[in-house]
Amino acid sequence: MKAESHMMSFGYNPDWSEGSVKPPIFQTSTFVFKTAEEGKRFFEVAYGKDSLKKHEQIGLIYSRINNPNMQILEERLAVLEDSEEAAAFESGMSAISTTMLAYLKPGDVILYSKPTYGGTHHFINNFLAEIGVASIGFNHNTEIQEIWEKLESKKLTSKLKMLYIETPANPTNSLIDLSIIKQLKEKIQQIHNHEIVAVVDNTYLGPIWQKPLAFGADLVCYSATKFLNGHSDVIAGAVMGKHENILPIKTLRTFLGSMIAPYTAWLLTRSLETLHIRMNQQEKNAKKIVEFLTQHPKVKNVFYPGLSSMGQKQLDIYQSQCLSGGAMIGFTIEENEASAFKLLNSLKLIKLAVSLGSNESLAQHPYSMTHTDVPDEEKKAIGINEGLIRLSVGIESYNDLIEDLSQALD
Ligand SMILES: *Cc1c(COP(=O)(O)O)cnc(C)c1O
Repeated sequence: MKAESHMMSFGYNPDWSEGSVKPPIFQTSTFVFKTAEEGKRFFEVAYGKDSLKKHEQIGLIYSRINNPNMQILEERLAVLEDSEEAAAFESGMSAISTTMLAYLKPGDVILYSKPTYGGTHHFINNFLAEIGVASIGFNHNTEIQEIWEKLESKKLTSKLKMLYIETPANPTNSLIDLSIIKQLKEKIQQIHNHEIVAVVDNTYLGPIWQKPLAFGADLVCYSATKFLNGHSDVIAGAVMGKHENILPIKTLRTFLGSMIAPYTAWLLTRSLETLHIRMNQQEKNAKKIVEFLTQHPKVKNVFYPGLSSMGQKQLDIYQSQCLSGGAMIGFTIEENEASAFKLLNSLKLIKLAVSLGSNESLAQHPYSMTHTDVPDEEKKAIGINEGLIRLSVGIESYNDLIEDLSQALD
């Protein structure tokens, strides 16, 4: 069956819950053991002292460790990503920070693509830097050879532990070539005989339009707040990958306490039932809007994956790793704040708000809002100019959306 069919019922049996066609909310902190022996056995498995026997089910203990709503959600997220396992979190940032903390120790180096989500940028450059994890950034123009030379010149190749990629980059829509994952892993393996963990933030195009695990990524992380939830009413996160790669993350999650809450998991499970129809409509609308913007005389630049104006190299990457350009559009009228603010203040249907991937369309100004924390020079170097507007396309009638943009441009 296709993933969209599994979203209605996978991982849930109505017999477990009085025949309820949908899973109830298991709003409980703890679970009653039938016997002391059963409680002992559940803890043995949960703490990794012993592994599950064939046909044995992991027992419910305490909602920081496991909860039916979290487990049902995780099983469906794994189906969506074609991965063995998933871990669900209370936010995208807790998914990302828990993953980094699970794999990075003081003295290690993280190599990361720029621009990256503002919160991720802050975590790498502030918290990780303070605990002695060094970072090196690269962007869509950097060749793998240059990355390698930079690492070698600083004698960091042996310390490299994580490659972290966000593609398409937020908010510029520039694509990072996922083939560097395999190239870099091989190089490090040959020279130092150690593994690096490759993580891809797939929030922009996943799980439908980009499959980083197929390109050698070990872990895929998400702000589930965005497309996965899609209704601007939940903050949540997720990480997917092989069981052995998810295990250290789940273990740390148990002790940081950053697991998703039952009600949040339930809302997200409900959202996943309509994920495909929402994303497909958002993509359809986005393509119509891109068509409109590229032809509008006042619009200077449009940034959308797959457009030939993004350059041949970007087009090649697009064709090798993306199944669609998605529903996020960047565009400029003039490269100054005044033109961007005037447009944003003139929109009527499209809301002026950060966040993305929801069923309603949103627009914002990355330079002064989501990316205000990135130093100005760096913003300029990676293509975030003062005129850039980021648009997240929802499921409204595309005619109404185009009408709104058109009157605002006028
Ligand atoms: C929003 C976002 C995050 C952070 O997720 P939260 O759910 O807000 O914690 C991380 N990465 C990307 C690409 C995002 O858009």
